[in-house]
Amino acid sequence: MVANRGEIALRIIRACREMGIETVAVCSKADENARYLEQADFTVCVGPSEAEGSYMNIPSLISAAEITDIEAVHPGYGFLSEVGHFAEVCESSNIVFIGPGSEVLKKLGNKTEARKIAIANKIPVVPGSESVIKNQQQALDVAHKIGYPVIIKASSGGGGRGMRIAHNDITLVNSLSIAQREAEAAFKDSSIYIEKYIEDTRHVEVQIFGDAYGNIIHLGERDCTLQRRHQKLIEESPSPMISERLRDEICKAAVKIARAVNYTNAGTVEFLVDKGNNFYFIEVNTRIQVEHPVTEMVTGIDLVKQQIRIAYGERLNLKQKKIVNQGVSIECRVYAEDPRNGFRPQPGKITMYNPPGGRGVRVDSHVYSGYEISPYYDSLISKLIVHQKTREEAIACMRRALREYVIEGIKTTISLNLELIAHPQFASGNINTNFVENFLSKN
Ligand code: ADP
Repeated sequence: MVANRGEIALRIIRACREMGIETVAVCSKADENARYLEQADFTVCVGPSEAEGSYMNIPSLISAAEITDIEAVHPGYGFLSEVGHFAEVCESSNIVFIGPGSEVLKKLGNKTEARKIAIANKIPVVPGSESVIKNQQQALDVAHKIGYPVIIKASSGGGGRGMRIAHNDITLVNSLSIAQREAEAAFKDSSIYIEKYIEDTRHVEVQIFGDAYGNIIHLGERDCTLQRRHQKLIEESPSPMISERLRDEICKAAVKIARAVNYTNAGTVEFLVDKGNNFYFIEVNTRIQVEHPVTEMVTGIDLVKQQIRIAYGERLNLKQKKIVNQGVSIECRVYAEDPRNGFRPQPGKITMYNPPGGRGVRVDSHVYSGYEISPYYDSLISKLIVHQKTREEAIACMRRALREYVIEGIKTTISLNLELIAHPQFASGNINTNFVENFLSKN
């Protein structure tokens, strides 16, 4: 059973079909007529359009699982994918949860706890509070110790939400209660912590995989520096900006953290890399990532199939030394958003859809001409992925594919992606996480 929707639900269903596994798709009222559901063997409507009542509704999902007598649940990303309680309920209902166990989800789902695990294993973390911030004075003490600017983050945070940067005591004090309220509203957990805000930084993350027999490997890194509002927009592998030595160190650090918690299944260990090439652990995402295709392209490994095999108790059939990352892969996320209007979501009908193709081009999407984009969910409608021998060729291929891509009826991020990909600074690889915001303020 695929406990998700949209492009990732279709991605998982496709992998299952190729493996000869029957699938149950679940859907909300809003998605009932979506065509990707036809690719599943069965579909169960699990609730109303609002995700709280459907894709996030554990009792409803478990009854769908029981009615259809399924063996395993793939949670995709977002929704319940990192909710320890959901994994626990699956485990106690004899349903295989395709991901790390509930214990690991609980340990790593709390970012302050994950930081502590990193520190205990001598992995560098961003300087910051040792634990959750309890009061204003403690926040001020931490900020004075590490120095401004600082960033306030939610312990249960995700999706780039609920982060606030403070440059002095006044903004810190003002932001604290706002950040706590935002965290409570978004994650039902008001606890926050503080890190030094690293101004000129890149985001580099490592794909890890573990099995139930203690084998843990990494599949190299992804560079996700190109972000809007702390959310990724363009990702690539390998990172164009790190040396072989740094890559090796970061990948080893990721495996070390995974080992410390007996990690199983797919996961991503995220780091920031500063101007001086110092790297700092920020968090572990205990699920398949949106940007997993770039790793699939350079390694030739189907990550979703691996997830399923490992969840079923198979041993990792991959040896670290045999993993060879080849060529360069870039992914552009296509959102139904207006980039020139604060990335405002663009629900509505796609009147014309004509995706690109050709050598080295992959499109992961569930949409088509006539598809209605619902206002209820994340506005990601497609991922455009290219794979070529060199970065130069990958950029040229992406430019060509973005120009070919036709989506009419709504505004999307295609044109912005094209401008960013064509920018000489992107070609040089010399960018930081503020690149998109700086670009938009000047253009
Ligand atoms: P989330 O779980 O919400 O995605 P992360 O901790 O993974 O949050 O951070 C998301 C992004 O926010 C990072 O890729 C980076 O751009 C920015 N960020 C997070 N922490 C810091 C920091 N200490 N300094 C600078 N930027 C940060």
